[in-house]
Amino acid sequence: MTARIIDFLATRRPEGPCLVVDLDVVRENYLAFAHAMPDTRIFYAVKANPAPEILRLLASLGSNFDCASVAEIDMALAAGATPDRISFGNTIKKERDIAAAFERGISLYSVDCEVEVEKVARAAPGMRVFCRILCDGAGAEWPLSRKFGCEPEMAVGVLEHAHRLGLHAYGISFHVGSQQGNTEAWDGALASAAGIFGTLAERGIQLSMVNLGGGFPTRYLKPVPGVENYGSSIDQALKRHFGNRIPETIIEPGRGMVGNAGIIKSEVVLISKKSDREDDPRWVYLDIGKFGGLAETMDESIRYPIRTAHDGDAVEPCILAGPTCDSADVLYEKTPYNLPVTLSIGDEVLIEGTGAYTTTYSAVAFNGFEPLAAYVI
Ligand SMILES: *Cc1c(COP(=O)(O)O)cnc(C)c1O
Repeated sequence: MTARIIDFLATRRPEGPCLVVDLDVVRENYLAFAHAMPDTRIFYAVKANPAPEILRLLASLGSNFDCASVAEIDMALAAGATPDRISFGNTIKKERDIAAAFERGISLYSVDCEVEVEKVARAAPGMRVFCRILCDGAGAEWPLSRKFGCEPEMAVGVLEHAHRLGLHAYGISFHVGSQQGNTEAWDGALASAAGIFGTLAERGIQLSMVNLGGGFPTRYLKPVPGVENYGSSIDQALKRHFGNRIPETIIEPGRGMVGNAGIIKSEVVLISKKSDREDDPRWVYLDIGKFGGLAETMDESIRYPIRTAHDGDAVEPCILAGPTCDSADVLYEKTPYNLPVTLSIGDEVLIEGTGAYTTTYSAVAFNGFEPLAAYVI
């Protein structure tokens, strides 16, 4: 919660649910990453929040950008980033999109299989590729499954194939899972990466770079380790596995860069019960839900801190839900959410830590509800 956001909401009194992002917090986060990991280049994961003001600020601070589509590449370019500061980090790309990125001067591409290497070799000849390896995501609150990456043994063949087709086999990437609470989570993947570096070196291919991905957490209800703890843990793991031949590294923070910079203002629409039984919990319906930007409450994975004007009063467990006519639009039910007993219809609630993965997840007009409005201040 920042004074600037409180002040903005008090003076502007925007109607309807909205996200307010404080750029000062984004700047602090960027500088904290740069300070904690001084030898690492930062590629902001644009998907976390592509607001032009955020991209412009980060471009001016010297950030690079991890993009997943041509549209994101164009946003990063429009914000002032040069093509050498942009990666096409999605392992799943149409060949014509690779060609469009190549036309724009993008020289760094992500792959995780041989057929994707072949697409890049045809559409972006001679460019640098890094191969993503699987990572189990243990310890993450929003793990990334087996969708991206290949087994480390396979990565050797993928990068050899790239080399054979005239691409620059540049490095290895992985993602330890989003909202990763364990500062040691990078160790296993770095061990695998060092193994791949060694095997390829024996075959005459010198890799240069390890892309450490995202995963740096933002604070929700529970405290999380500071970015400096991640920096020193990763530094030690790099030394452990690469000795005195530390490769170039990059990180791709998304959530950790913008999560705590934003607050969603919402309003209580209805509070009701399903029966007259004493022990039946209250249902609290907000004017924002899963389809209005809070998609990360899926499986109740991310639990946002919620502030009300009644904080300090007695609380009781409530089921929290959104306003749409879809029964999936329930935020917290398996683990109910403690809210003040004095909370009533029309009260404002502030949902903290919502700067990442909210605006772009909000539906265009499900049930006629407008997409989540955003103010970047
Ligand atoms: C989403 C994503 C990120 C950002 O992850 P966070 O956990 O939000 O930091 C980084 N890299 C890639 C390739 C991604 O897809």
